[in-house]
Parts: sequence; C-alpha cells; structure tokens
Amino acid sequence: MLLTIATTHQPATDLGFLLHKHPDKTQSFDLAFGKAHVFYPEASETRCTAALLLEIDSVSLVRGRGGDFALEQYVNDRPYVASSFLSVAIAQVFGTALSGICHPRPELVETPIPLQVTVAALPSRRGEVLLRQLFEPLGYELTLTDYPLDTQFPDWGTSLVYTLTLTGTVRLTDLLSHLYVLIPVLDNDKHYYVGDHEVEKLLRHGEGWLAAHPARELITSRYLKYQRSLTRQALARLVDADTPETDEVTERQDAEEAQVEERLSLHEQRLGAVLAALKASGAARVLDLGCGEGRLLNHLLREPQFTHIVGMDVSVRALETASERLHLDRLSPRRRERISLLHGSLLYRDPRLEGFDAAAVVEVIEHLDPPRLSAFERNLFEFAQPRLVIITTPNAEYNIKWETLPAGKLRHRDHRFEWTRAEFQAWARGIGERFGYRARFLSIGPDDPVVGAPSQMAVMEKESLAG
Ligand code: SAH
Repeated sequence: MLLTIATTHQPATDLGFLLHKHPDKTQSFDLAFGKAHVFYPEASETRCTAALLLEIDSVSLVRGRGGDFALEQYVNDRPYVASSFLSVAIAQVFGTALSGICHPRPELVETPIPLQVTVAALPSRRGEVLLRQLFEPLGYELTLTDYPLDTQFPDWGTSLVYTLTLTGTVRLTDLLSHLYVLIPVLDNDKHYYVGDHEVEKLLRHGEGWLAAHPARELITSRYLKYQRSLTRQALARLVDADTPETDEVTERQDAEEAQVEERLSLHEQRLGAVLAALKASGAARVLDLGCGEGRLLNHLLREPQFTHIVGMDVSVRALETASERLHLDRLSPRRRERISLLHGSLLYRDPRLEGFDAAAVVEVIEHLDPPRLSAFERNLFEFAQPRLVIITTPNAEYNIKWETLPAGKLRHRDHRFEWTRAEFQAWARGIGERFGYRARFLSIGPDDPVVGAPSQMAVMEKESLAG
C-alpha cells in the first residue's frame, strides 16, 4: 500500500514542515498491524514528494479474527489494498498534520497549496462512479488507472482496484481528512469494531466538508458500517452543525418569511422576473440552484423552450416536496424527461452542473455563510460556467418598510446576511471581473425613491458571448 503526496508549492520542501517529517530522513513506525515507512522520493525547492509505505503483517491480522471460510484468513486482499489500515496509519504517522497543526509555519496550515496525491491499489466495488461521486464534489481532478483482472484472460475485464490520483489546491489538513474518511468508505470493510467513538471521529474529520457533501448519507452509513442508529445520530448532528435548513424549522422560518413578504406576493413577482430573463436569453438547458420546493421549476416546466431543467438543493426534504408539487410521478413521459432533481451543495464543485445555458439562484446566496461564498463563486462561475446566471437576494435597505419586521432584523432566521443594493452590486461586479461575466441589475417589487425595491436581481452574462 503506497500513498504519495506531492506539491509544487514554493519552496516545495515546506511539505516536510507540514507533515512533521524531515525530507532528508527515512523513518519507520511500528503499528498494531504492521509497519509504516515515510520517505521522500524527491525533495527540491520546486517539487517535493512524500511517500507513506505500509507493510501489513498478514500474520498479525489472522490473530483473533475469524473469516467466513477457513482460507479467507490467509487469502485476502487486506495486505495489498488501501483500506481502514491506511487511515489508521495516516492518523498515527501524520496525526499532527491531520489535525492542522504546524508550529514552525502556522500560516502554511491555513493556505491551500497545489497538492497531488496518489493512492495505489484503492478498491472501489462500485467502480469509477463512486470514486468520482466522493472526490469530485470536494474540488479534486481525478486520474484513475484500472488494471486487468488477469492479463492472460482479457475477457475477465478489469479489477475493481484502481490507482487514484487527486489533484487540487487545498489545505493539507483537508486533504488528509478527506482521505482519512473516504478510503475506508470506498473499501467498505473496516478492520475494527465500530462504536460511538467512530461517530465522533467521523464528525471531527468531516468538519467543514461532510455536512454539505452531496453523498454525505452514503459516506456516513458506509463509514459507520451500516449501523443504523449510529448513522442516524451522525447525520442529525451533521445537519445541526452545518447544513442550513432541511426540516421543520425551515418550514416554520419559510412561513415567517412568506408572511413578511405576503402583501406584495413578492415571490411571484420575483419568479416572473427570473422567468422573463431566462426566456429572453433563449436558454434551453437551465439550472435552478437551491430550487427549494420547486416553485420556479413549475413555471419552467410549462415553457417548452426549456428542454432540460435541473433543480438542485442541499435539502432532501425540500427536494421531496418539490417532487410532490411537480407531480413527477404522474407527468407524461415527454415532460418527465425534461426535468430532474439533484441533491447537492453549491459549496462543492459538481460536474453535474456543467454544460448548461443558464442558472437561476433565487433567494439562495443569503443562506450561505459569508466565508463560503467564494467557494460558491468558483463552483458556479469558474467550473459550471453557464453563459447566463440570474441571482436574486433581498434588498436590506427596504427592510424598514416592512411593518411586521422589527428594526434591524433579517427577513428570515436562516439568512446569514442581507445586502444593500451597493453591497450586492459590488459583489456581483467583482465576480464579473474575476470570471469574465457582465452584470446588469434589476429591482423587483415596488421601487421606493429612497430605499429602492424589496428584492434585487443580477443578470450576469458571460463576456465572450455578451459581445
Ligand atoms: N429558490 C427557491 C428556494 C429559496 S430558499 C425559491 O425561490 O423558492 C433557499 C434554498 O437554498 C433552500 O431550499 C435551501 O435548502 C437551499 N440551500 C441553502 N444552502 C444551499 C447549498 N449550499 N447548496 C444548495 N442549496 C442550498
């Protein structure tokens, strides 16, 4: 089992500080199930690679462990494939780096640096799809090499063991956490007993990324070896910790917001404005990101111009409601094939969002934590890159006009911020400059001469196409 981590960050030998392992030395560590060796195949100012080689002592594995059939104890893939043993080795050998500690270079820990990690012999019984599903939303480029099961018998096809290379610009501590959690998820055969403390480990190492990962249910249940009560416990805590809104609380908050905005039926006006802009653009393939209960999707479905409609939301409950509202199970096949719903998060790169003409992001950005907005910006404008993006958000200046809204309060309890017109426009223009989009702004609802309209909308067109 071999794991290599390479960087071209300058000076590349900083990797030695981050990993707490000196590039000039080869070190060996005794583990309960074998030995780990750390060495650097290359260490120059421009490129540095650290390797973790794991030697599993197959005899130690047999002790105290029965197999389903007698030979299984001796004939198995455990010594050769990346598995929970590798996670344990990462935690023991690179524990300080995994926890994000580096006393000599504290700022380095917080800096995303170009990293390339290769894991040789990574099993994925669900093949390439699962590998992509797990790593791509975290922003990595994947390179996969597969191997024939037996070169003598090409008909047998390829084995389900891969060499995986992940390339990305990330903090080393995040990279190690991703590997620590996801390698055992792929292998799906933990070598040790899974109890309550595994929930804690999962939440600790999943902090900051797992809650919003589109495959978080699968990750959690495989990580906890399908133990239902542990899985439920972990998922509930993940939702509490990080995911903005998925359940009853949201419904209550939504009702409050609806009441505040009711007099104008502002939401209908907003959807009308978004729909008009989408129609005028000539778009056929459209995304509704943070689609909620599918109100906009309903309008889109009525317009034959939109031949591919995809709604995406982080909340499974919202998607279920959307599916009911849209009567997805009763649509004619022709309509049904125009629309699909995806569970996913805007905070992670998602290849499923590529190749669309337009994206609507209606009343969603104010639900994202400000420090995570930049991830959203890159995922949408750098990676998904639809040629048209329509974003709406409340205009905070208008709040003093709402009779039912106490001064200084936001319209919805889950809103992380509400922006003035100047703030929204500066943000959207900044995105335009960074990613090559031209922004125009419209107001939605009755326009007050002083505070403007209750809602604001940016229509952003990709510059090469805007002419
Ligand atoms: N666009 C809908 C819903 C707006 S409410 C409408 O106008 O009716 C905000 C929605 O954003 C919620 O459904 C919430 O689940 C979703 N959301 C919040 N954070 C998200 C994220 N990181 N990724 C995707 N959707 C998110």
